[in-house]
Amino acid sequence: MAAPTAPHTSASSGPSPHGELDFDRAPMVLTWEISQACALQCVHCRAEARPHRHPDELTTDEARAVIDRVADFEPRPPYLVFSGGDPLERPDLEELAAYAVSLGVQTAVTPASSPLLTRERLERLRDAGVVRIALSLDGATAEAHDGFRGEPGSFATIMQAATHAQELGLAVQVNSTVTRNTAGDFPRMAELVEEMGVVMWEVFFLVPVGRGAVLEALGPDETEGFLEWLAETQERVPFRIITVEAPHYRRIAHRRARARGDRGARVGSTGDGKGFVFVSHTGEIYPSGFMSLSGGNVRQDDLVEVYRDAPLFRELRDPDGFRGKCGVCEYRSICGGSRARAWAVTGHHLESDPFCAYVPRQYQRMVEAGEALPPEDYFRARRGRRLPVLPN
Ligand code: SF4
Repeated sequence: MAAPTAPHTSASSGPSPHGELDFDRAPMVLTWEISQACALQCVHCRAEARPHRHPDELTTDEARAVIDRVADFEPRPPYLVFSGGDPLERPDLEELAAYAVSLGVQTAVTPASSPLLTRERLERLRDAGVVRIALSLDGATAEAHDGFRGEPGSFATIMQAATHAQELGLAVQVNSTVTRNTAGDFPRMAELVEEMGVVMWEVFFLVPVGRGAVLEALGPDETEGFLEWLAETQERVPFRIITVEAPHYRRIAHRRARARGDRGARVGSTGDGKGFVFVSHTGEIYPSGFMSLSGGNVRQDDLVEVYRDAPLFRELRDPDGFRGKCGVCEYRSICGGSRARAWAVTGHHLESDPFCAYVPRQYQRMVEAGEALPPEDYFRARRGRRLPVLPN
């Protein structure tokens, strides 16, 4: 989740543009849905969280074995994010975090705004060596946030947790989801996020999976306008903004940076299976939390080998293999489109991202030569079995 430069067209992901990381060898971030259990029932939950822990959840011993392999990634282990559900539902969370830290793995936690999110629990996480917590905020007021999530009191819990975390020396990140309902509140949310003194604002763009399938996403042109606003906001706020499942933000941020005479923008560089890997509560190794295509399972497969060599992961790191617009786009190496959305909407993970409004120069020439369908016809023809929300 960090910084690319200019577009290039290599077939392999190769070294990341922000240092020594080679995304063919190691992810930058590993998010681990350590439990699907959650006391809340948020309307847009990707995980379709449930009140109780799944009986087949990874045990403490299995979880420690996963951490051993996380630490084995070279040249350095990824940032390990304990997620859920609500990771606080695991009584061994602090033990696992401390074990990871002892092996040199940096850790963060994304707790739910449940009654478990207390100052005492945050203190225990801090003492275990956790360096950051990420809190979900989907509105600038209690009315907007609690209304969207369907959880009264959630906004107050989040605000209090942010204060406690900062008092305890934990860095705070805010995660927010863009939908047609929440988009209009983002300017006020940007002000609130700045007042909260966070280090990062991670903005999630809807992928129609889990309970989120019932929500309405922005269309391609609206998404383009929203991303322009986000890039403009980044130019004046002190915290970093990155997007999840909207890598075309990088196209916009880089264009703006070059127009200013800068070489590039710090806007993130990972994609599904490319610098990022997700482990489910039962050990499935997914390229994204929004794409339940598995490359293996930690119970019988080796995490490092799956990330590096599973055909699914290798395909996702080869932008020349993408289809439609994304496959010929001059931005395919720094963007490549949301693979999870392509999968959720069309049924195939290598298809084009239907929520990107950009028409690459080469694709335009192909349309003019009669070698490709205009984008709207292309996506209409791929209206997938999963799809209630293909843009018009
Ligand atoms: S066409 Fe695909 S690769 Fe190009 S900017 Fe849009 S989403 Fe990214």
